[in-house]
Amino acid sequence: MIERDVSLQCYNSYGLSAKAEYYYHYYSEDELRDVLIWAGQKEIPVRVLGGGSNILLSRRIIPGLIIHMGPCFISIRRDYLLAGSGMGTSLAALQARYYSLTGLEFLYGLPGDLGGALYMNARAYDRSISDIIISAKAMDEKGRIFWIKKNEMAFQYKDSVFQHRPWIILALLFRLRQGKKERITQNMDRSISGRREKGHYDYPSCGSVFKNPYQAGIPAGKLVEELALKGKRRGGAEIFSKHGNFIINKESASAEDILALLELIRRQVQAKRGITLDPEVEIW
Ligand SMILES: Cc1cc2nc3c(=O)[nH]c(=O)nc-3n(C[C@H](O)[C@H](O)[C@H](O)COP(=O)(O)OP(=O)(O)OC[C@H]3O[C@@H](n4cnc5c(N)ncnc54)[C@H](O)[C@@H]3O)c2cc1C
Repeated sequence: MIERDVSLQCYNSYGLSAKAEYYYHYYSEDELRDVLIWAGQKEIPVRVLGGGSNILLSRRIIPGLIIHMGPCFISIRRDYLLAGSGMGTSLAALQARYYSLTGLEFLYGLPGDLGGALYMNARAYDRSISDIIISAKAMDEKGRIFWIKKNEMAFQYKDSVFQHRPWIILALLFRLRQGKKERITQNMDRSISGRREKGHYDYPSCGSVFKNPYQAGIPAGKLVEELALKGKRRGGAEIFSKHGNFIINKESASAEDILALLELIRRQVQAKRGITLDPEVEIW
């Protein structure tokens, strides 16, 4: 069912209060196909929402149709794990551990869903989701379903083919390995406690705002630190004191507050270090 003017405040990790002009919560592939055909006929732009942990809702009303993914099935056979794209990344890691499968631990504690992680080629602890994916099931804008193999996903640092095609990821197939449950638990504990120590869950945020400019040989957070921008505030938003690449929602921040800090960092890094920073967060 397509709804109108649906609040997205609970569906984005910044907790910003924007509304979707049109909103559809995924129910089935057949229904999704009908919804896409409807949007195509009416020339309504479509966006896909996963866990909402890498988006910045910059307008009160997000124009067009937002498709909120929610298929949360999981199925395991031998070392293969098949999961719906709307499954939370951490939940998938917990399920894998239940079956003594190792490989997903580095993603434990990563906010968001599997579909968003694949789209972003999410990385943590020097590993990326591209290291463990085998293939994915997707739907194109005309409602056609197809499987795409890892070698067709054009993975690069924080990039995948899904950022360049109007495809909706429906399911992901991973190849994991049998492991010892205690060892898997230790790895998962390490992943999540590393995030806790760095303050990832202290305030609402979208994680790293900028991609690391690897060609410049210095992480974005370090650049922010060197330019003494940590702790700078605009309205309710702040450049996080524990991590220069995080802009946090300290106190009822607006999208304008967050964007003002994003621009401040971008301008200062360009002017003082001659480095162009590319946002990792998607601005909607
Ligand atoms: C505290 C914190 C820590 C973080 N740490 C990390 C980190 O260590 N490493 C890292 O890489 N990221 C990190 N992030 C960013 C974010 O969690 C990841 O990018 C995550 O994988 C995004 O998933 P999501 O489901 O929330 O995607 P969303 O924010 O919902 O969407 C992101 C993009 O993916 C697209 N998308 C989502 N689902 C689908 C789908 N099914 N089909 C097609 N497109 C889809 C959306 O259209 C959008 O363009 C962090 C974020 C926070 C808040």
